Amino acid sequence: MAKLYFHYATMNAGKTTMLLQASYNYRERGMTTMLFVAGHYRKGDTGLISSRIGLETEAEMFRDGDDPFARVAEHHDHTTVHCVFVDEAQFLEEEQAWQLARIADRLDIPVMCYGLRTDFQGKLFSGSRALLAIADDLREVRTICRCGRKATMVVRLGADGKAARQGEQVAIGKDVYVSLCRRHWEEEMGRAAPDDFIGFTKA
Ligand SMILES: [Zn+2]
Repeated sequence: MAKLYFHYATMNAGKTTMLLQASYNYRERGMTTMLFVAGHYRKGDTGLISSRIGLETEAEMFRDGDDPFARVAEHHDHTTVHCVFVDEAQFLEEEQAWQLARIADRLDIPVMCYGLRTDFQGKLFSGSRALLAIADDLREVRTICRCGRKATMVVRLGADGKAARQGEQVAIGKDVYVSLCRRHWEEEMGRAAPDDFIGFTKA
């Protein structure tokens, strides 16, 4: 049976590059993939998946209330779909995560989701919470903090170069995100004393 996968990480771990490479591998073998991205990422009326290293491709958008199961089922009816990819999967609604599970369970198509685990305040996103709960296969995409430890958290730096401690969960394109280990994240967020401070807000 096909599986629902969740590849999760912090920012700048290369998730999107992995997604595009994996989709390319299918297409190179003459197979069909369907790509989805959150509606925040678009060019006009088309979803756009773009990676930091310059690769990009058009994709279907998912927005609140959309039904990815219905869209994949309709497409699969006339063209066999071999794999479904979802970028920025943290923005899925809980119900949409279940619809993706149904694509695996009822259409027997593997679904590969890529997204952030937590926001800049260390809280789960809706899509991440649902995927961590129900995905068959959880895979951590690793990146490192400046100290060399594994980065599991992200801070959002404002125009003043300081880590935001409050604010909206989503602020796309306006701010800079930096991935940190949990210890240095707590220091940047002012939750723990910076006894070996190596942060970004001080010289
Ligand atoms: Zn660190």
